[in-house]
Amino acid sequence: MTRADRVAALLDGRGVDALLVTAPANLRYVTGFGGSTAIAVVGPELRRFITDFRYVERAAGEVHGFDVERGDRELLATLERGWPDGPLRLGFEDDHLSVRRHGRLREALPERVELVPAGGVVEAVRAVKEPGEVAAIRAAAALADEAYRTLAGDGLVGRTEREVAAWLELELRRLGADAAAFPPIVASAERGAMPHAEPQDVAIAPDTLVTLDVGARLDGYCSDCTRTWATGTPAQELLDAYELCLRAQQAALAALRPGMSGRDADAVARDLIARAGLGERFGHSLGHGVGLDVHEDPRLSAGNEQALEPGNVVTVEPGIYLPGRGGVRIEDLVVLTDTGAEVLGGLPTALTVVG
Ligand code: ZN
Ligand code: ZN
Repeated sequence: MTRADRVAALLDGRGVDALLVTAPANLRYVTGFGGSTAIAVVGPELRRFITDFRYVERAAGEVHGFDVERGDRELLATLERGWPDGPLRLGFEDDHLSVRRHGRLREALPERVELVPAGGVVEAVRAVKEPGEVAAIRAAAALADEAYRTLAGDGLVGRTEREVAAWLELELRRLGADAAAFPPIVASAERGAMPHAEPQDVAIAPDTLVTLDVGARLDGYCSDCTRTWATGTPAQELLDAYELCLRAQQAALAALRPGMSGRDADAVARDLIARAGLGERFGHSLGHGVGLDVHEDPRLSAGNEQALEPGNVVTVEPGIYLPGRGGVRIEDLVVLTDTGAEVLGGLPTALTVVG
């Protein structure tokens, strides 16, 4: 089955006859198109791919199994025509399509085509990775690992957070990444207590913790890895937080397996941290899927009752944040196998001391 076939197979269950795909990552996934302007329609009998004149030639090389149409200046207007006879329920990605584009779409479509919100269909197919996708994510993770290793050798003390973040972005590109998957986080001392701290023009001090969160994008696929390093000997409270965070991560990695819900995976790490009295200090969910987007399905969170499946690629990233003092997060990327989870990437998780 092609990816489009797998999407089409889910449509009946969502109460639609066809799906209009507009989200860029979903378009790329379903059609293979890497350009920026296109829409597609997928149904059991329908494979429409519509782009503008700039991309028709590119689409001919990249898009297979679809009827490639050169669209009107406004692509959605092309959907005025080209439909089979009779009524049709057309799903749209309500978590991506703007209200304005929805209005234009309704104006363009013939009256017999009904619009039905149907977000998340392609995302559900994307959540289970093909071997080639796992290989791409593994290669992206290896690039980020290499940048981390070079950084550990170069040292952190005396450099500013911003300088280290900029170096990381450049290094990922130098190593062959398309780009950083997201702006790297470098958060030292008390800024480590903010899970998404922006790097500051502040020199990194000795004897503190530094949280680094780095991902590479390679062939469209992302990686995501956090390490918290010590610059010398931090306060005992921070070292204790590190040990606890590491135990929570190891427990979650050991427990993770298909059939387990995202909620239960989250609870393994959360319960361990809560038993140590720091449950309030772990304010985000345990992890998220990673693929064409750096945050995608499935979620390892209290809100996800769905069972994990072999082929899911998720992060496992407990954190402990002590306001005003510092923080710890340890994040690894794993692929679910038939019996457990395999870590993608090879950085150690024991506390690393970097000068
Ligand atoms: Zn991360
Ligand atoms: Zn993450």
